[in-house]
Amino acid sequence: MTKVAFIGLGNMGHGMAGRYIEAGFDVTVWNRSKSKADDLIARGARWASSPADSADGADAVVTMVADDGASRSVWLGKDGAAAAMKPGCLAIECSTVSHQHALDLARELRGRGFIYIDCPVTGLPQAAAEGKLTLLVGADAADLEKAQQFFKPISTTVRHFGAVGSGTVFKLINNLIGAVQIASLAEGVAIAEQAGLDMKLVGEALATGAVASPQVIRHSKRMIARDFSGASFTSALRHKDAAYAVALAESLLPGVPVSRAALAAYDKAKAHAPDDDEGAMIAIVSRPK
Ligand code: NAP
Repeated sequence: MTKVAFIGLGNMGHGMAGRYIEAGFDVTVWNRSKSKADDLIARGARWASSPADSADGADAVVTMVADDGASRSVWLGKDGAAAAMKPGCLAIECSTVSHQHALDLARELRGRGFIYIDCPVTGLPQAAAEGKLTLLVGADAADLEKAQQFFKPISTTVRHFGAVGSGTVFKLINNLIGAVQIASLAEGVAIAEQAGLDMKLVGEALATGAVASPQVIRHSKRMIARDFSGASFTSALRHKDAAYAVALAESLLPGVPVSRAALAAYDKAKAHAPDDDEGAMIAIVSRPK
């Protein structure tokens, strides 16, 4: 049986790990807080005592953790996965990390004889649990072939952007545009409320008009109703992605005032309530009722 180690069982990783179990892989899991692994263990996964323990004997290690610091720790920290991986093991980093971190991690892991696949994803936690993610991949073509069997259980679409790091470049651009849209939508909704417009009509018009991107459709309803149940992407994560994207822009296209404004909006949202849904920033831009 093909062995996969899955590290990071948060909103996204939990569903992704479950897909490998359902697909018949021999799955070992590790998460900083063990309780999130309970039902995966009941479904057949083995619990590992550390990232290194999970990686021992694995054909691929897949990680889905919060940010650069978490990624560094699970791959390269004391008892990190790299300490126990076998030569030629695939290292598939699905977390959204900074571009510099992706390049540094790839260099480090390749230097130790592993194959690095830059593999951030798009899709909400429900898509993760259903195996319907889109993978934004940066990898050498030969390595991509080897990784296909590990892509299949978690995704419906694989977009190969080029060399390692290119998947992360696109992911950061994608999420930066999302940050701009959501921050601007919050201000638009708040202005409409102040103007006394019929908010039911505003919601219908936003969701069907020329600006009706999937982000606007999803968040306009939630912002107008002030109902953020089923929160899936937090302000802290959106802020992290926007900060990594603006850092990337610094070397390529300094300036980016609109992107910086969105980052500033998410600075405030994160300071206000980091674990709230990313759309809850409407509370900050609205006048208290
Ligand atoms: P989440 O629910 O907050 O889970 C974060 C995971 O990272 C948890 O497993 C957490 O462990 C772990 N973690 C955090 N800090 C750590 C550290 N220092 N050491 C070890 N583990 C650490 O986040 P998520 O929504 O699953 O997102 C995971 C990644 O996917 C992020 O990079 C995010 O940007 C990206 N992403 C998310 C979505 C989405 O819709 N949610 C969509 C696409 C991509 P604990 O359980 O112990 O806290």
